[in-house]
Amino acid sequence: MDLQIKDKIALITAASKGLGKAVALRLSQEGAKVIICSRNKESISKTEQEISQKTGGIVKSYFCDVTNEEQVAQMIDGIIKKFGKIDILVTNAGGPPSGGFGDFEIDDYRKAFELNLLSTINLCKKVIPTMKKDAWGRIVMITSISVKQPIDNLILSNTARTGVIGFMKTLSNAVAVDNITVNSICPGYTKTDRVENLAKNFAQKNNSTETSFYEKLESNIPMKRIGTTSEFAQTVAFLASEGAGYITGVSLKVDGGFSKGLF
Ligand code: NAD
Repeated sequence: MDLQIKDKIALITAASKGLGKAVALRLSQEGAKVIICSRNKESISKTEQEISQKTGGIVKSYFCDVTNEEQVAQMIDGIIKKFGKIDILVTNAGGPPSGGFGDFEIDDYRKAFELNLLSTINLCKKVIPTMKKDAWGRIVMITSISVKQPIDNLILSNTARTGVIGFMKTLSNAVAVDNITVNSICPGYTKTDRVENLAKNFAQKNNSTETSFYEKLESNIPMKRIGTTSEFAQTVAFLASEGAGYITGVSLKVDGGFSKGLF
């Protein structure tokens, strides 16, 4: 299926590895011009090279912490100068630390909101004006299955990401008239460094093994396996496509059936 995004300008944040990187690779394979960023200069330029070597496409990387408004503004200005516009925005950031109610102070919540909620709002505020000019845009917010069913021991993530969904749905109504779609994809457990770290933390905290973390996890997933980054990225690419132009305000689970609710 031709996604009809060849030569579209796509910004994917937090993309030196994991889900963001997989999405950048997929969009590049579909012919989009891909811009990626993360907080580490070395790793993001390594990822830039890796993707452009694999696809032969145009890939540009920026050093940018998505919680830093000034760095985000500089990056967006740089992209507009070089490429003239941004058609596709995929918002992503790292996840907040794991832990429960007793583990965190108010400042920890503030940091989690900055990392996952405010960074998303800020990126949208900066990118939407250029999408409006062109009367075309696709925004995909990477959140988590925790917005459908809170995950034990991830209180910061559970709390901050539901705010993203409220923002996403409200924004989708406001910009639909400009032919801009706004959706969220909610990954279940997907094999990245983030999940490997959760496995390590589990093993340490419970005097157990990483293997038993995966066994426990997979026994609760109807598909009996965790997801791949490629499966996740293909779903994002579809929502970024021309053909998905009538889908907006949706939070879509990519979780192998892990979340047990109806929606
Ligand atoms: P990851 O840790 O493998 O990769 C995170 C990426 O974000 C890295 O490139 C890192 O450099 C970058 N990054 C982190 N903070 C940043 C910041 N402030 N500014 C710019 N770049 C930043 O994580 P992942 O597994 O790819 O997950 C991506 C997001 O999806 C995370 O928020 C995670 O919590 C969420 N998520 C992941 C899963 C999963 O199973 N992998 C499930 C649900 C939700």
